[in-house]
Formats: sequence, C-alpha cells, structure tokens
Amino acid sequence: MTHRPGETIAYRICPFCEACCGLEVHVAGGHVVGIRGHDADVFSGGYICPKGTALKDLHEDPDRLRAPLVKRGDRFVEASWEEAFAEIERRLPPILAGHGRDAVAMVVGNPVAHKVGLLLYGPRLGRALGTRNFFSASTLDQMPKQLSAGLMFGGWLTIPVPDIERTDFMLILGANPMVSNGSLWTVPDFRGKAKALRARGGRIVVVDPRRTETAAMADEHLFIRPGADVFLLAAMVNVLFAENLARPGRLTGHVAGIDAVRDAVAPFTPEAVSVRCGIPAGKVRSLARALAATERAVVYGRIGTCTQEYGTAASWLIDVLNVLTGHLDEPGGAMFPKAPAFAANTLGKPGIGKGIATGRRASRVSGAPEVFGELPMVCLAEEIETPGEGQVRAAITIAANPVLSAPNGPRIAAALDRLDFMVSLDIYLNETTRHADVILPGVSPLEEMHYDVAFPQLAFRNYARVSDPVLPPPAGHPPEWQSILRLIGIVDGKGAGVDVAALDEALVAEEVKRVAGPQADAVLKAVSRWRGPERLLDLALRSGPYGDLFGLRPDGLTLAKVKARPEGIDLGPLAPRIPEALRTPSGKVELAPPVLLADLARAAADLARPAPELVIVGRRDVRSNNSWMHNLPVLAKGPFRCAVLVSPDDARRLGLRDGAKARIEGARRAVVAEVELSDAMMPGVVSLPHGWGHDLEGARLALAAERPGANLNAVLDDRLRDPLSGNAVLSGVPVTMRPVA
Ligand code: SF4
Repeated sequence: MTHRPGETIAYRICPFCEACCGLEVHVAGGHVVGIRGHDADVFSGGYICPKGTALKDLHEDPDRLRAPLVKRGDRFVEASWEEAFAEIERRLPPILAGHGRDAVAMVVGNPVAHKVGLLLYGPRLGRALGTRNFFSASTLDQMPKQLSAGLMFGGWLTIPVPDIERTDFMLILGANPMVSNGSLWTVPDFRGKAKALRARGGRIVVVDPRRTETAAMADEHLFIRPGADVFLLAAMVNVLFAENLARPGRLTGHVAGIDAVRDAVAPFTPEAVSVRCGIPAGKVRSLARALAATERAVVYGRIGTCTQEYGTAASWLIDVLNVLTGHLDEPGGAMFPKAPAFAANTLGKPGIGKGIATGRRASRVSGAPEVFGELPMVCLAEEIETPGEGQVRAAITIAANPVLSAPNGPRIAAALDRLDFMVSLDIYLNETTRHADVILPGVSPLEEMHYDVAFPQLAFRNYARVSDPVLPPPAGHPPEWQSILRLIGIVDGKGAGVDVAALDEALVAEEVKRVAGPQADAVLKAVSRWRGPERLLDLALRSGPYGDLFGLRPDGLTLAKVKARPEGIDLGPLAPRIPEALRTPSGKVELAPPVLLADLARAAADLARPAPELVIVGRRDVRSNNSWMHNLPVLAKGPFRCAVLVSPDDARRLGLRDGAKARIEGARRAVVAEVELSDAMMPGVVSLPHGWGHDLEGARLALAAERPGANLNAVLDDRLRDPLSGNAVLSGVPVTMRPVA
C-alpha cells in the first residue's frame, strides 16, 4: 500500500480473532483509508486475512451504536450517558435489594477476549455483583479444554500448544486452522507454517467429519463420526500401552497416574471403537505408531473435540497422548507459552500450587456444577424461567449474543423477555440486546488502546505487543472500563455518580496491597503515570517473567518500553517449562484425574450406542467469526455462506437437491436452509455454520438482515452438555431433513 502525502500510519492488533495479527492502518483526515498486514510485526510478519481489513467497516458501520439506547415502551430511544445510567440506577438496585445478588445474571460473550478494558474490568463487576449466575461463551466453546488442562497442569490457561515451526508430524482433530489461524492456539499464517512443515518433510493428518480446508491441504484426512473423538483417542492410548510405546521421556519423573490411565483405556481396543468412530482398527494403530515413532510430533484438537458430550475427556486424552509419546513440553511437540503478563502459570511459587477447584456451587435448577466460576450457558433460560429463591430476574450482558450463539436460542429470547430489567454493554442492537432496557455502547476498537490479555498465553511464540488508539474516541464517549466502574458503583450502592477515578484507585490499591504487601506504595508509585487498563498492564508486565520488577531488573519490560515498539518485542521460541509451569498440588502432571477416569468409564459403557442416521455439525468460514461480522460489507459480500452442506449419498437418500431448500429439524425446532451438495461431508453428517438467523424483529443489523441465513442453534438441543465442563453439545446433534416444496 502506498503511503500518500497527508496519510499517517498507525499499528493495531487485529481484534477479530485469536490470531492477533499486527495491522498497519493508514489514516487521512481522521478516516481510515487502508488496512494491510504490518510487515515488520515480530509476531505475524505481515500476515492478514480478509477479516482484518473489515476493521474499517466496523468502525464506519452506521449500525454500530454511538450513543446509549434506553427502551421507552417497546421502542429504543437514544439517551445521554447520564440518562442511561440514571435508568440503570433506578431499576437495578431494587432488584438486588428485593431478591439478592443471584437475581442478577451476568452473561459474557466472546468479543470480550478482544477488548482489554472489558477483560480486565468485567471480572471486577462480577465480583462486585457477587452472583452465582455467571454465564459466558466459554461453555459454548473451549471450557472442556480449560478444565482438562486445569486438572492436569493446575491452571485454567496452562494449555500446551503445537510448536508448529519445529514439529514433523501434526495430528489435528476437530480444528480448521487454515480458516481460523488457530484457536486456543494463536498462530497467524497457519497456511505458511503448515507449508513449511510439509516442505521439510513433515506430515499433517486431519481427523474431521468434514474435509475442511485444513484437511484438504493435509497429507491425510480421516472422516470420523462426530462426537467419537474420545473413543479414537482412548484407543490410540490403548495401542501405546499394548505395543509398549508409552515413553514420556524427560517427563517420566514429573507425571503421576500412568498406570491408572493404562487400566482405564483397556476397554478401548481399536477393534472396539472402529464402528463408533467410522475408522478402521488398523488406521487407529498406525496413527498411534506414527505419533510414537516421530521424534517431533504433536496432537492438537479444538472446537469439534470440545463441543461434544465427552468434550473434557477428549481434550484430556489429547494431552495424555502428547505426554505418553514424549511430546509434551518438548520442541516440536505441545509446549507451554510463557506470556509476559497476566499468566497465572508465571505467578506465585513455580512448580506447585493449589490446582483448580470446580463444583463449589451448583446451578439452582439443573444442579450443574460451577466450573471456573461459571455455570453452563445452556442453563441460562431455565434459571430465568423457573420461579423460586434465587430466580434470575435481571441480566447484565457484555458483548454477548446467546440468542444466536447458544443452543435453543429462541427459548433464551423468550426468557430474556421475562426479565424485570436487562442492561447490555454492546456495540450493536442485535438479536440479544434487543431484549435489553438499556444498551451502553463501547467505542470502536480503533479508538482505544489494546493488549491481548489471554492470547500470548496460547501463542506459537512468545512476544509482547501493545496498540495505542488509532483515532481519538468521540467526545464524551467513555471507554467500556469506565462504564463498568459506574455499574460497579451502582451495584455497590455508591450510585451512578460514583467518582470513577477514585473507585479505580481504590480497587487497584487493594489488589496491589494483596500481592505486594509492604511494597505496595512503592509499586503504585512506579505505575502512577498510567490509568485504567494501562496501569493494570504496566503492573502485570513489570511484575511478569520478563518485567523490570519495578527497577530491580532495569533491562526488563515496562509498558512504556513495549509501547515504544509497535511492531512488538519478540521473546523467543517456546521453551520447556515443566515443572516450573505446573501449579498442581502434587507438583506433577496429573495424568489420571479421578473425574476423568470416571468419565472414561461412562464412555466405555456408551461404546456400543448406535449412530443416529443423520447428525449436524457447525463450521467456520474465513469471513465470519462473530454474528455481527455478517453486517460488515467486505465480509458479507460474495457467495452466500449459510448453506447446509450435504453429502451426495445423503442427498439421494433424503431427496434433497443442490440449491433447493430443506427443512432441518432437531429435538426442539426446525429451520429452513439452502442445500449445497458436497463430497467434503462424511455421509450421515451435514454442516451449517453458526451465528446466522438475522431475521429477528427488533435487531438493527441492516446488511446482515438482507441475507439472514438459518440459525443452527435453533435446532440444537439445550439439554445436551458435557457433564464435567457444562459445555454445550454443538457437534453431532441428531437431526432429520426433508425437502421444502
Ligand atoms: S487471522 Fe484475520 S481476523 Fe484473525 S487476527 Fe489475523 S487478520 Fe485478524
């Protein structure tokens, strides 16, 4: 892109997906005139996908809210910030006073992970609210992996990621990094890295019920029946023991529970799982042998392995395989990043810790155990609908759209209508926020600073990078973290007029005192030039593993030093971290947590269950990640992406024609979608992307509404979940299909 006179260039971390590419944003006259990849970025090296350029569309989207909305009667009207907060102060405290803290639910969506203010201040609101009814998109996505990693390694984000630049064999299950650029694995330009892997003689094998874009470029693709990953993985572990291939290598003295795992996988012979998986027994054996025989190899699984009935067990077995084949914590295997800030596995005493706790409380209606402080999103509707002590009567949603993103979304929509009060922090009037009484919009990502709190903890390489705002925020528009502080003021009884700066000082001082003890004053003084998220970031960077320790290590990182390098600071390739990264009470990798052994016994009893005739799975598209992306012109143009993919065999059997409409019926409801015949589908499996269904009255997503698509989640069954993590089952749900005249 040419740099024309009058243009300035700014650098911004892309907020659209986990890959966190560095963008070069060209600005002239206060407008974005172009976006490209930032070639000098130490982490992404100039890579960009089509979504990155859509940041301009998001910024300019006329539907993006610029002022608060307050519902008067059944209509939203624009309001001043004072009017909006006054309305919240009028209506929320009486509910808390009359019905207790649990009467207010918090519902948090996936974009929160891409907004530093929301990620750092949202949990403060959760603590101030003190409700047990906390729900998030995590239980529609990655909670099983967080739970399995927490049980094995002692931290909710101590998740090993493939060391792709040094591996020679990668087995990928239920993931499509060619499109996603990694998930729970931050890896911009997966395509380039996979190409390099194969160019050096390495192999990629993909196991998926669809021949995805990743499967199409891989050396080998195996279809698997959706939801059967746990059986395949257990059988591979079985083969390692049966053929004396289980060798944890350097980790041997750091692993507990190997014998218990051997016993637990005994029923899962390759022959026993073959029918359930749809994979020949010989192939199961050869996969296990290849993994064991390759010096630098790794197993990686993602959304398909999480969003199933045995999501936690499947996520666990992936790392069991990595451990037993000597590939965990080794170059070219599955390794633990060392993030410069906010990583729990770099805090406290190295190598030992309290581990994680779950089930400290249960949901009121279904008795679902709390996990990571959350209840399953599939329990939200029943907690609103069911009368009694602790019934949810109000909700605060933050960048969440469960009406489209959670199973049985229509039920959630009806439940939200029953609330006495609902406030949403959101940049859109969407299918969920249309139910709110007050909507508080955040600023555009281009108008705020950014640091990725979570993703350096999952990155293929260690790095530090911060973005300053590209454009000034509109006058009088507070950043989201300040809106959250005002909400904290309201729920704490200080009122909407709370002195936001003073409240922030008090909260930060309290936290620093807890961690730094007698040094607290000196630490606070050291970071006193910053406010809000920047101060929290400076604190975390300086006390982190590369930090300057507030002057004790002068060469170390500070926020000022990271800001001075918008291209980022490379902190090197991943390096072995066991035992230092562990935070389990035993100080060992817990290979056989009792709850997972018990769940494997549940799976063993389930081995012979016959496969349903037809099941549905989702899919990801390179031009879509969140539902609001369907409202951005650069992403919405081109072929319609919400067709249901059907194998030619199934189409013949069901009388479905390419381009014609079909009715897809689940346990709860039906939707109508356009059929696309595809030999990429395993017979017996159809695929519809999620996040569509933009034809609901009251939402303001004009472009998305032109081609609304069908809502996959409307046909999914909200009674199905992984009992350990509470994660919804989104993959492999039985459906029927028939042509629509
Ligand atoms: S892969 Fe695309 S959407 Fe994701 S961070 Fe990079 S440019 Fe943004």
